Amino acid sequence: MIKIDLHNHTSHSHGQSSVEEMYNAAKENGLEIMGFSEHSPRPAAYSYPTEYRDHLAATFEQYIQSVQALKQLPDGPKVLLGLEMDYFPSEESFIRETISKYDYDYIIGGLHFLGTWGFDHSREDWQPLSEDEKCAFYAEYYETLIKMAQSGLMNIAAHPDLIKLFSIDTFREWVQESSAKNLIRRAIAAIMENNMAMEISSAGLRKPCKEIYPGPAVMEIAAELNVPITFASDAHHFGHVAHAFDRLAAYAADYGYTESVYYCNRSWRKISFQP
Ligand SMILES: [Zn+2]
Ligand SMILES: [Zn+2]
Repeated sequence: MIKIDLHNHTSHSHGQSSVEEMYNAAKENGLEIMGFSEHSPRPAAYSYPTEYRDHLAATFEQYIQSVQALKQLPDGPKVLLGLEMDYFPSEESFIRETISKYDYDYIIGGLHFLGTWGFDHSREDWQPLSEDEKCAFYAEYYETLIKMAQSGLMNIAAHPDLIKLFSIDTFREWVQESSAKNLIRRAIAAIMENNMAMEISSAGLRKPCKEIYPGPAVMEIAAELNVPITFASDAHHFGHVAHAFDRLAAYAADYGYTESVYYCNRSWRKISFQP
């Protein structure tokens, strides 16, 4: 089984459970390592129609203290302090400053915006788009992912095909094109060149795309290049911690993986998993 969940949110952002409730769920699920990776602050220009920004800002210090307190526990799952940092190509100084504020074990690079558009917010945003427009966004997503990797600021590339969320059928066709495959290959190569890992996440199974992030087409390229992987539930509720990890283990094993990585003090360690 997989004994590490590196991607978990709490009620300090838009999650529904406290730090302690998430930790107890990790314990109940038999995890050896529980990584907290709350959302980062974002510059004001990058906003969702519904926002948790003020609540996050007001309680962030409390969040850090709660996680640090769990780190001191003598037994139970080992706790890591991470951050899911939103990536914006023109905001690298903001990112650098944000990630330097606390002693994070790892930084997950989360790509949720193209320009100032939070593309993962609603299906209604995607419905009027033509096939060509959708494909242009897929390409922009992977070009931005390359920039994120090249920034050297992140350790893990989160949900590496999140852009498929509201248009899975079109995305599945797009990834069969050789130009798309080449672009994805360049993105995964950039992840590797910058000593990052690629996340395999069960969150997609709970979303409209109903598919693990990343799906088979991206996974095939990832396995061919042998990019290091991490496992994640992207839990926003204690019931999601370690969600479908048996499926993630079987999926990664099908592509030849036998070990994943995690990060302590921003440097990685390998650990094997059993399907
Ligand atoms: Zn995310
Ligand atoms: Zn997340």
